[in-house]
Amino acid sequence: MSERHRLVVGNWKMHETAGQAENLARAVLAALPPLDARAHSEVVLAPPFTALAAVHAVVADSVVALGAQNMHWGESGAYTGEISAPMLLDLGVRYVILGHSERRRYFHESDEEINRKVRAALSHGLMPIVAVGETADERDTGMTDARVVAQTSAALDGVEPANLARLALAYEPVWAIGTGRNCPPAEADRVMGCIRGTLPGLEHTRILYGGSVTPANFASYLACENCDGGLIGGASLDANAFVQLAILALAA
Ligand code: PEP
Repeated sequence: MSERHRLVVGNWKMHETAGQAENLARAVLAALPPLDARAHSEVVLAPPFTALAAVHAVVADSVVALGAQNMHWGESGAYTGEISAPMLLDLGVRYVILGHSERRRYFHESDEEINRKVRAALSHGLMPIVAVGETADERDTGMTDARVVAQTSAALDGVEPANLARLALAYEPVWAIGTGRNCPPAEADRVMGCIRGTLPGLEHTRILYGGSVTPANFASYLACENCDGGLIGGASLDANAFVQLAILALAA
């Protein structure tokens, strides 16, 4: 039996104005049954930066924690358009998604930049959720394992072993994100095992699956040895679907 507590994270991406996000967060809280504090399982909502304050006002003092979708590694400075860890902490943020494939693909984030962000987040007391995953081409050419291991070891370079339990990894096959083509659970479990084997100490790190998760398929991932929860995109924009996912994770 794993000692790792379940984690379910809703990544709202570039959706919802502050007012819409506030309503969505209220709907999630209203539908969520009381969580057993002894379970220490966590539910996180990650709205866009512009809605963090509004969502914080709703989830503060609840079992739901606040997450951000990105951050810069610096504390402050001449980085127009960027947001730092102290700014996130000031808004009540506890988790930050780093290295999402959309950031890697559309904003050309490198493994080195992601590593700087991971170390900065940890040094400020934020909990990074680091996404790794192969593209369809990499899978088709047999590169899946090498790709996720390389991304994981680069992202965690220089991270103190004691900090490995303070972060989470998310296995998100790029071809499964937002496509409705989820990775078969047994294969996802195999790859998550590969990710876990990248470094000693990762046996205490939560690994989430992400990629077209729905209430209909999530239980099959949660049943996997290496899966400790989910990073949810599309289904997190529907309060009822997201709460169903949270309930499945908490019950598993
Ligand atoms: C994601 O964006 O991290 C994600 C997993 O999206 P979706 O659930 O929509 O595939």
